[in-house]
Amino acid sequence: MESTGRLEAPYARDAEEIAGELETRPSRGLSSKEASRRRQVHGPNQLRGHETRSALAILAHQFASIIVWLLCAAAVMSLVLGDVADAVAIAVVLILNGAIGFFTELRAARSMEALSRITKVRTRVRRESQVKEVDARGLVPGDIVVLDAGDIVAADMRLVSASNIYCDESLLTGESAPVAKHASKIAADTSLAERANMAFSGTAVTQGLAEGIVVATGMATELGHISALAEEAVSEASPLEKRLDKLGHKLVWLTLALAALTSVTGIMWGHSTPEMIKTGVALAVAAIPEGLPVVATLCLARGMWRMAARNALVNQLSSVETLGATTLILTDKTGTLTENRMTAVGYILADRDIDVLGEGENARFSADDRELDPAETEDLNWALRIGVLCNTAEVGSGDAGTRIGDPMELALLAIATNAGVTRSSLRKEFKEVKQYAFDPSRKMMATVHAHEGQFVYAVKGAPESVIEASDKLFSKDGVREMSERDPDGWHARNGRAARSGQRLLALAMKTANSDAEDPYGGLTLVGLVCLLDPLREDVPAAIRASQDAGVRVVMMTGDHADTAAKIARDAGLGTDDLKVMAGRDLAEFDPETPDEAMRKRLRETDVFARVAPDTKLKLVSLFQHSGHVVAMTGDGVNDAPALKKADIGIAMGLRGTQVAREAADIVLKDDAFATIIAAMRQGRVIFENIRKFVVYLMSCNLSEVLVVGIAVGIGLPVPLLPLQILFLNLVTDVFPAFALGLGKGDDEIMRQPPRDPHEPMVDAPRWWLIGLLGAAITLATLAAFALALFQLDLDPGKAVTVAFLTLALAQLWNVFNVRRPSMKFFVNEITRNPYVWGALVLCLGLIAFAVGNPGLSSVLGLPSPGPQGLFLACTMSFLPLAVGQVFVLMSHLRTAERVAGRKPHATLRSQAPG
Ligand code: ATP
Repeated sequence: MESTGRLEAPYARDAEEIAGELETRPSRGLSSKEASRRRQVHGPNQLRGHETRSALAILAHQFASIIVWLLCAAAVMSLVLGDVADAVAIAVVLILNGAIGFFTELRAARSMEALSRITKVRTRVRRESQVKEVDARGLVPGDIVVLDAGDIVAADMRLVSASNIYCDESLLTGESAPVAKHASKIAADTSLAERANMAFSGTAVTQGLAEGIVVATGMATELGHISALAEEAVSEASPLEKRLDKLGHKLVWLTLALAALTSVTGIMWGHSTPEMIKTGVALAVAAIPEGLPVVATLCLARGMWRMAARNALVNQLSSVETLGATTLILTDKTGTLTENRMTAVGYILADRDIDVLGEGENARFSADDRELDPAETEDLNWALRIGVLCNTAEVGSGDAGTRIGDPMELALLAIATNAGVTRSSLRKEFKEVKQYAFDPSRKMMATVHAHEGQFVYAVKGAPESVIEASDKLFSKDGVREMSERDPDGWHARNGRAARSGQRLLALAMKTANSDAEDPYGGLTLVGLVCLLDPLREDVPAAIRASQDAGVRVVMMTGDHADTAAKIARDAGLGTDDLKVMAGRDLAEFDPETPDEAMRKRLRETDVFARVAPDTKLKLVSLFQHSGHVVAMTGDGVNDAPALKKADIGIAMGLRGTQVAREAADIVLKDDAFATIIAAMRQGRVIFENIRKFVVYLMSCNLSEVLVVGIAVGIGLPVPLLPLQILFLNLVTDVFPAFALGLGKGDDEIMRQPPRDPHEPMVDAPRWWLIGLLGAAITLATLAAFALALFQLDLDPGKAVTVAFLTLALAQLWNVFNVRRPSMKFFVNEITRNPYVWGALVLCLGLIAFAVGNPGLSSVLGLPSPGPQGLFLACTMSFLPLAVGQVFVLMSHLRTAERVAGRKPHATLRSQAPG
């Protein structure tokens, strides 16, 4: 079998037979040595890299653009007209642009692949009798895999045991409802969708637990077959790239029309036809912002890496853009705002409260100032035992044993071990026969154990649920009936502890003759365990930062309202006047038709408590319908729909289930709330950078078109030769634009309200700025040209050099015109960007070389204009900078006037919707 990597119909045979054939034992698993031997034979457990785009495909993509074809046409035309230098220059432009495009796209594609490798699937496997977490690529046939709710199945497996397990197989079969699974043998002719004793690679466990023997890995799995059929993966361009592409295309047509018009006018003024055709060609080439899509991709990819360095892994480039426009973060509590490092600090039992003093091995139990011995205290002892029995966490042997599982369950194991109740001895006494996985809608889980000829049910869950499911109490004097008033008393004690920020869990049990009873009925309540999960240190500052940035933070938790409220207050949400709403109160709201009453409640509420997973989806819709761009954090398998629905789904890398991670747009490697804020800042910086270089590039290109167009239109000599335009375009377009795209941003960006997501990339004020800057550069260049011709009496060749220098320098200084209006002239995000200075120095050097080097200057047609000409060009080149600064200053004053009298925070919050 090893040669094929695939067994014949493993579902039609007993699990033991399969285990025998694969030379493995479900209770032990393979040895590490055997696993690595099999890996040699079968290769890694992964699909063929159909997502990796080959370098050739990326190269071909560079030529699939109208701009490239236009450039090719221009080169051919120059060649036909006998202008070899022009043809070579255009070829250089083509090669350079193609090379830049190729390398940036290649790097972006490889970045995405590298990042997706970081978020690789991990899986729990039994090797040498120990359950370990391994990279799913290391799975081999014969491995015993432990499946839990939220896992993505990483290989095809025949189930050996199954407890209440359901899998979402929609990826494979198209069936959207989760399918129940079992471990019994089925008929050999069963169709794929009905093979209920198999778990297939790529499907997700929606609830329950199971163990299975891996029967096929990698391309040998059912998923592998499908993916082999659909090898061609389509990679979607981000909306931003699409928008830029559209802009670029529009400009192509506009430019062509302008170039044609200029050529025709020039011919009418008596310029020679070949010269005018060449000028038209050069204009078309010059005016097209070839660099736009390339610089944008580079900028996004770079942002993605910066985010990754800050622990936020982005699944899609477009998320970077949406993050910057986020207006509301719906965050969960446990693990995101808190550390998810739980410790048991007390027990609330029927007759007394017990405190846990000290930590770890020194933990002691005390009630009414008296120390208790847990072994001698029956009620406490049962509470500890239930915590261990009804528990799915795994702790390896030895001090450095691995700890896998829910921190809350690990805390229950830890406290019991310290009290002398060990899992191994308890499991011998109470053999587990069944497990009912945690049900998020009922908020309880249960296990059933065979003990002295009977069955003991151990239940733990949210206090409200467990108290309701109990009709008896475990008191000091034994089990007694619960009175009518008892539940109220328990709720009051639960509330008191919750108000101090403790997370409470109720523990209950029952004994029965059968293992098939409803686990959640007729229970005996043993008590509540109080757990402490401290607030993360960096959370209050991060919440303040998001409030300053005009982004609302709303907590949404499955926990008790009082526990949630205390943590929310400590985190700085809502402060004096914190409003909490219960998840069930949302039932009356219809997300499709938001009314004013609903909007008001949503506007006021800071915390939604006891929220069930389906309510999360509803909350996301409600906020979206009231105008918010919603980022939502989630970790559970049930969070996946809401994560998909949110504008930005954020999954937790440490705590999150694989299903949640796949559904999300961003994965936080450290689960920390502060990381979201850091990522959001990056999102804003990137969008602003892109806007900056769009304005910059377009105003430069516009000026080139206008200078030649107007000069030819009014009958002046042609002020710029085609080759010069191409040179300018290469020098002044690309380097400063790249530099702007690499800007790191500053703190100011997080003190502004979020941008309107519907706002176009180039909005009205920016169009004005482009027009004004383009006009100012044109005016300066033409004025310098005219002065050189008529005032300094330079010959037309030297006057052309003056025009060239004025335009080139003015375009360089133009980079300072795209600064944010609220910043100072000398100290702003542009002057502090080292890349900008680097680009300027480089460009100045290249311009000096073009004019100063005898060889190059004669090719480009740039004779020295003499000191006067040089002085004229330098002076005039500063004119557009001055005009730009006046405009920036005026727009700043206008904005300042608008917000005068309003407090900055009030301004930000009033601008945010709902
Ligand atoms: P958050 O939504 O902030 O992560 P949470 O973990 O409390 O908070 P859920 O996972 O929805 O939210 O859990 C809801 C409640 O169910 C918890 O407050 C707890 O009382 C109970 N609960 C959670 N996990 C378990 C479990 N493994 N076994 C039993 N009860 C649980």
